[in-house]
Amino acid sequence: MPDDERLLRGFTVTHVRDCLADPAKNRVIAELWDNVSPAFPYLNAVVPNLTYAPGASIMMVRRGERLLTFYPHVAVMAKVDGEEDAVAQLCWFQGLCNDIWRRRGELTPCYERRRLLGPLDVYRLLPQLNCRACGEATCMAFAFGLLAGEHRLAECPPLTAPQHAEARRRLAELMT
Ligand code: SF4
Repeated sequence: MPDDERLLRGFTVTHVRDCLADPAKNRVIAELWDNVSPAFPYLNAVVPNLTYAPGASIMMVRRGERLLTFYPHVAVMAKVDGEEDAVAQLCWFQGLCNDIWRRRGELTPCYERRRLLGPLDVYRLLPQLNCRACGEATCMAFAFGLLAGEHRLAECPPLTAPQHAEARRRLAELMT
């Protein structure tokens, strides 16, 4: 892609710290070379499971157990596995951002506020039987595991029952 079509030309990692919530992981901060906020409404229109605060120009995305927060010129990444993993997340975001920006003429931007999917949102869509067939003691524990990327929906057999078809469809959409 030519430089003038790219919204985000690159980034520089500026801080690598221990993650407060999990010392085995890192909290990494990077400077974004360009203002990425014009892409936020387009990302909000197509990327599931993100938080978007239009007034504050903040976007948060969960990838596995990582929580990535993007400001116009800064990225703050929690629970990443060191600088290499942080760079991989930034490369993912850069590719996504530039692709969305290149296709913005085909997309309808969404300016609605959205919040990140939480365990309770997931739990409400699960069968709530606490049957342990997924290997977890409770459906709530399974919901946490799903959000952390440690479980897949297919590990919950009761979810395949016809009465849960709509919940399964919504969960599949949200967990994409
Ligand atoms: S298998 Fe499904 S219904 Fe059973 S405990 Fe796990 S999440 Fe809950």
